[in-house]
Amino acid sequence: MLKTLSIAFAGILAAAGAYAQRGGAPQPQAIQQVKPGLFMVTGAGGNTTVRVTNAGLIVVDGKLPGEANYNALMALIKGVSDQPVKYLIVTHHHADHTGNDQRFIDAGAQVVGTQNLKMNLETYAYDPKPAPPTITYPSAEYKLELGGVTVELHHFGRAHTSGDTVVYFPNLKVVSVSDVVTTGKTGPLIDYAGGGSAVEWTHVLDGILNLDFDAAIPGNGGVLTKADVQAYKTKFDTVMARARELIKQGVPQDKLAAEIKTDDIGWAPRVPKADAFYAELSASK
Ligand SMILES: [Zn+2]
Repeated sequence: MLKTLSIAFAGILAAAGAYAQRGGAPQPQAIQQVKPGLFMVTGAGGNTTVRVTNAGLIVVDGKLPGEANYNALMALIKGVSDQPVKYLIVTHHHADHTGNDQRFIDAGAQVVGTQNLKMNLETYAYDPKPAPPTITYPSAEYKLELGGVTVELHHFGRAHTSGDTVVYFPNLKVVSVSDVVTTGKTGPLIDYAGGGSAVEWTHVLDGILNLDFDAAIPGNGGVLTKADVQAYKTKFDTVMARARELIKQGVPQDKLAAEIKTDDIGWAPRVPKADAFYAELSASK
């Protein structure tokens, strides 16, 4: 009885959340210039990146689902450029990044993401389910050229999900890292259901740090420097080394995440599947 009640209650909460995202009060958004020709829009989901070219716009991540969120984003973009959006790159399948894919497609844009992102969307239980990309890339790298501007899409491996794309703007030395780098007290979410991996995550951070950049746009929060990303990797590796040490000491899987010392880190990893976290750390060095 108790179980039935709590499931019903969770259902109501989920419905209320979906309603708020669809029609209710939209979260405020704000646009700022990161470099001449490149902007970041915060709010209403993950951070959005806007790259302006004289042949159209390349946008990274399109906010939580909702006409109001989409319209507010487009109004801010129109404030800095009257060019149409030609490409929407989606960094992974979560709805705070993919929520308005269909609206961008309807407005004439191509939506670009990894094949794994498309696969993750098939089993993604979210209402409304985001539309799949119109262009998928299967390998580690993909390039877009528009108006003399090159944009590199990198899949360095599994981290937040199995479908993560890091978007690099080489001539501006900016990289959009999405939820592979978290900010503030928010720790990395290892989305095992979406193919995420704590063990591979560190190699993905290496891949990012091998790029020549001085500004990184995270999934949430303000613009980061390369030193910030390096510091994040050091903390990430420290947390994983501590987790491996706890496994050696015999800490059981259901206590592992909670027992990691993180008071000097500032965040704790978010581990939705204790068994998967324990298994992959046990099997790696
Ligand atoms: Zn995410």
